Amino acid sequence: MKIKGAVLREVGKPYSFEDLELDAPHEGEVLVKWLYTGYCHSDLSNLHGRTMMKLPLVAGHEAAGIVEAVGDRVTRVKKGDHVVGTWMIPCGECPECRKGFGNECSGTFGPFVSGTMLDNTSRIKDANGETVLHGNFVSGYSDYTVIPERGVVPIRKDMPLDQACLLSCCVPTGWGTITKAANVQPMDRVAIWGLGGVGQNALRAAKVRGAYPLIAVDLEESRREKAMALGASHFICNANQDPIPEILDLTGGGCDFVLECAGQVGATEQAWWALRPLGKLMMVGIISQHEQPRVPLTFSVFHQKSVVGTLYGSVVVQDEIPKLVEQCMRGELMLDTIIEGYFKLEELNDIADRMEARQLSGRWVCRFD
Ligand SMILES: [Zn+2]
Ligand SMILES: [Zn+2]
Repeated sequence: MKIKGAVLREVGKPYSFEDLELDAPHEGEVLVKWLYTGYCHSDLSNLHGRTMMKLPLVAGHEAAGIVEAVGDRVTRVKKGDHVVGTWMIPCGECPECRKGFGNECSGTFGPFVSGTMLDNTSRIKDANGETVLHGNFVSGYSDYTVIPERGVVPIRKDMPLDQACLLSCCVPTGWGTITKAANVQPMDRVAIWGLGGVGQNALRAAKVRGAYPLIAVDLEESRREKAMALGASHFICNANQDPIPEILDLTGGGCDFVLECAGQVGATEQAWWALRPLGKLMMVGIISQHEQPRVPLTFSVFHQKSVVGTLYGSVVVQDEIPKLVEQCMRGELMLDTIIEGYFKLEELNDIADRMEARQLSGRWVCRFD
């Protein structure tokens, strides 16, 4: 069938909007009509070649929509189901999956970075008949896609789909980092660098967990209001001041957990100094593969400070998304506050430029016609 998609063909070049040909779903795959797709900082990282994705690909990995058709032997979803896409599909069999970390599945990591379905082939071709890859299984910036059935999670139909798309990426990443990877407890001292979609969700999760002080740090003063609305006890603009003295003062010597959600070397180096003894620096944002932060590990020994990487919140999203839906419906996630605006697919390059210029202070969601 004919579809429309935003294709990332070359690092650093704008997305091209193309008419594409999509094959029917194979066995174990489903055809989904995406209705909403959020623009994530990882999309920008892919655009600028900070990650290792193969090109050309249909961009987008934070999407929600409706199942239109199913391939043979599909049992988990049916036509008409409302679903959230997932960009990691745990195989259930590899050593990481068996340890409960399906977010690190080594069984499906190959297709994940290669941009294919689980059989290592793509269902998408361009107008010249050349193969176009799937962006992290989801290909959220196309009106329709084919995805493995285990790459979608059915959700209740009264959940607004514009909010549901955030459950694909920034919500489980932010919440899982707090509730599983860090396992924040009431009155833990927490600071969060970088208030994009992931940082805002982590902030919300830490508030619900009872963290205090809960300090938001961002280069943009304009994000203060939203940070406070989501539950921060303090906001520090690190473009205007060195945040470390104030954080050490507010916390009586440092934080138990510091989250680096900005994906910046400078933020990482700064965040390290906000840790107290036994503190953990949670690496959430994606630093460019070409840059190395200078973190003095001498104090890692004396004060037992550690650096902990976490991907997708360290959760199995297929299990976590249904729980997050219920929390959302109870109002705990405040996704209506986190969403800042909506755009059309053709406006994607403008949104990317505005994110690069740090002009966005909340999630922007593509609305398909
Ligand atoms: Zn993302
Ligand atoms: Zn696995």
